[in-house]
Amino acid sequence: MDGRRLEDYRDIVGDKVIATLFKESTPLRGKRILNVNSTFTGGGVAEMLWTAVPLMNDLGLEYGWRVIHGTPEFFPITKKWHNALQGEDVTVNDHEKTIYTGINELFSRFTHIKHDVMIVHDPQPLPLISFYPKRQPWIWRCHIDLSEPNKKAWEYIKKFILRYDNTVFSADKFAQSDLPNEKSLIAPAIDPMTTKNMEMDSARQEEILEKHGIDTDRYLISQVSRFDKWKDPKGVVEVFKKVKKSVDVQLVLLGAPASDDPEGQEIFQDLQKEIQGMEDIHIINKQSELLVNAVQTQSNVVIQKSLREGFGLTVTEALWKATPVVASDVGGIPLQVIDGETGFLCQPTDYDEFAEKIVKIIENQCLGKELGQNGKNHVHNNFLITRLMLEWIQQIKTTLRSTKVGAL
Ligand code: UDP
Repeated sequence: MDGRRLEDYRDIVGDKVIATLFKESTPLRGKRILNVNSTFTGGGVAEMLWTAVPLMNDLGLEYGWRVIHGTPEFFPITKKWHNALQGEDVTVNDHEKTIYTGINELFSRFTHIKHDVMIVHDPQPLPLISFYPKRQPWIWRCHIDLSEPNKKAWEYIKKFILRYDNTVFSADKFAQSDLPNEKSLIAPAIDPMTTKNMEMDSARQEEILEKHGIDTDRYLISQVSRFDKWKDPKGVVEVFKKVKKSVDVQLVLLGAPASDDPEGQEIFQDLQKEIQGMEDIHIINKQSELLVNAVQTQSNVVIQKSLREGFGLTVTEALWKATPVVASDVGGIPLQVIDGETGFLCQPTDYDEFAEKIVKIIENQCLGKELGQNGKNHVHNNFLITRLMLEWIQQIKTTLRSTKVGAL
């Protein structure tokens, strides 16, 4: 984050978009809006806040961001909630529930809130609302795949959500019908001006890949994602084995740790054991924007083999680089991958289908180029940060009006 201003985006989104953002945000100038999530680094939520927060301030809003202080015992519990809400059969016991709410209560004692609007992201800081006198509207922003939550977990979590004035989801299939709260949809978005997403000199890309042992003269397929069971890295290896029977290809699995995801290290180590002795698999556990950019740009195909997926910014990022994507037909992915147009969608556990589509693209470069270009246009028209900001501005105005808190 290097002090970018909204004007810097003119060449990509056009003057009208910038002017509209300034016009629409005028009634919110000076309004204090606070985002609370659970990590500064790793994962899509932090990724978007790093971009949106400074740019919203550039519009004149006092748009802030605080991170709940988790203890080492807190994040394994909140990851359980995450897993349960994505459908896993896990139980959170009473002691764990006490820690979950206790850490939220503790945070409320040293975090004073005098803001006009609160935006709380995901389940980790969700109970915070119970520990404040409610002086302003609160919005719960859910980024996870809620299509088939574990019922018991959902009932427990829902009791906190009921206190919120509004809820925001990434796709309509996540807006649970048994949730009486106001619901809105705001799809995530990427920042085209970050190191990760900016156009990069191809010689520099090759240098970075070669430094990691990747041969830039051979075909490359990749998945860039946290090492998380929902991203199914083991399944990606199975798909790779099948692809390898038809084309001489290398695989990169790139992931970076997120401080609110305690399972990543174990999954990474398991995977390392699993691929021992197998050729042409590069598994990299490291945070590097340059490397993400080089891998997504240089891959012949980017895979996103998620079993559940809130949205999948990694898909957006790959499409923005005009790289064709073969991905699971789950969660928010089909908003981005339009089957046969911007990539291919597969059943999440159908390894043959994944392999067949990947080989098809590698063997037909014209097809790959066409899908990639369509994907880039689709992202340009729908999933850039300026669109997300405009939707949030409208959302905040609507919330303030409907709750009649704060004069507009
Ligand atoms: N990411 C990264 N380095 C990595 C792996 C992922 O910077 O090695 C970033 C990725 O580029 C994307 C975000 O983490 O911006 C992941 O967001 P996504 O919505 O795909 O998944 P989440 O992790 O939030 O489930």
